[in-house]
Amino acid sequence: MSGKPTTTPPVSRGVSKKVHIADTPITLRNWHQHIDWLNVILIIGIPLYGIIQAFWVPLQLKTAIWAISYYFFTGLGITAGYHRLWSHSSYSATLPLRIWLAAAGGGAVEGSARWWSRLHRAHHRYTDTDQDPYSVNKGLFYSHFGWMLIKQNPKRIGRTDISDLNEDPVVVWQHRHYLLVVAVMGLAVPMAGAGLWGDWWGGFVYAGILRIFFVQQATFCINSLAHWLGEQPFDDRNSPRDHAITALATLGEGYHNFHHEFPSDYRNAIEWYQYDPTKWMIWVWKQMGLAYDLKVFRANEIEKGRVQQMQKKLDQRRARLDWGVPINALPVLEWEEYLELARSRALVAVAGVVHDVTEFVEEHPGGRAMITAAIGKDATAMFNGGVYYHSNAAHNLLSMMRVGVIRGGCEVEVLKRAQKEG
Ligand SMILES: [Zn+2]
Ligand SMILES: [Zn+2]
Repeated sequence: MSGKPTTTPPVSRGVSKKVHIADTPITLRNWHQHIDWLNVILIIGIPLYGIIQAFWVPLQLKTAIWAISYYFFTGLGITAGYHRLWSHSSYSATLPLRIWLAAAGGGAVEGSARWWSRLHRAHHRYTDTDQDPYSVNKGLFYSHFGWMLIKQNPKRIGRTDISDLNEDPVVVWQHRHYLLVVAVMGLAVPMAGAGLWGDWWGGFVYAGILRIFFVQQATFCINSLAHWLGEQPFDDRNSPRDHAITALATLGEGYHNFHHEFPSDYRNAIEWYQYDPTKWMIWVWKQMGLAYDLKVFRANEIEKGRVQQMQKKLDQRRARLDWGVPINALPVLEWEEYLELARSRALVAVAGVVHDVTEFVEEHPGGRAMITAAIGKDATAMFNGGVYYHSNAAHNLLSMMRVGVIRGGCEVEVLKRAQKEG
């Protein structure tokens, strides 16, 4: 800095005016500039190398068990650490557990906890919009990992507050030394583990590279599959969905409709029989004194959400049916007018509403005589139990025949008024 005052505002210096490559259309000439080559190598290139290696490197049983265990260990680093602890603060963790989770999550090779959580908070805040870093509205492939393979304009992603993460020394350390964490936890530890029985190379290929590939693909499903497959029991305005298959693939993150509604609940599955190993682990850590302040939404609030969504679906079904002419759209008749009209048509008044039963007289299940006895009268009492207590279906059928309403409600009211008036 020269310290010399400048009259040119920083925004007009050209650098920030430059159009980001992500904001230009992909053409045959510039497509290679749109690709994030580093991520392509990390997410596709290295796994391909591992698959090719697997043809030459025999898989030992001990190494297979070690690779699967390490898969769960690093997967939980993402789901219990990156996701439920750092993105959502759904529980608190002691320092040893935070170090453990930062190490495990780093071994999954999905970026630092700070970077991951910032994007995930934007995903929750701006779900399905252009500011959602992995909006499923841009396609299933995009939400899975396309968003990392094609360059994004970082300015497009919605703003979020991560001041709490900047105050966590474990998160800050992991972010600063991320490449070291990846080298140690992503490759060195899985190699050394299998090295205990002399299978260093098998450890590198299976517990290292291929395990990274599987854990990445599994956790990417939280952004793709969980927004595409299943039910929406709590809210259907956005894309998150609940499905057991997604839960199996993502260490329990499959009840994503619930999760988007109650993101700071440490659970994803609320029923005991649903698969949520991440929740079970957090609970075990609590028993061990490593985790505390596990947040749970009240069952009453959860049930409210479920009932409101059911009501919404029910209202939509109801709206598809014909319920007869709405009462407030019917013409208003004087009692005398009704009596006059009933001379030429089979009109019956029930509860202040006039019904034209002309075509129904012959079909009346109670017989012709019963219904004709009500023509030109106030049949409210007869209909509602005086003669016969009609069924729900009969009430619905009657409402399809309504043609008018009587001023004042019913006969009695009209007579009372007539008496008063003299
Ligand atoms: Zn989501
Ligand atoms: Zn989340």
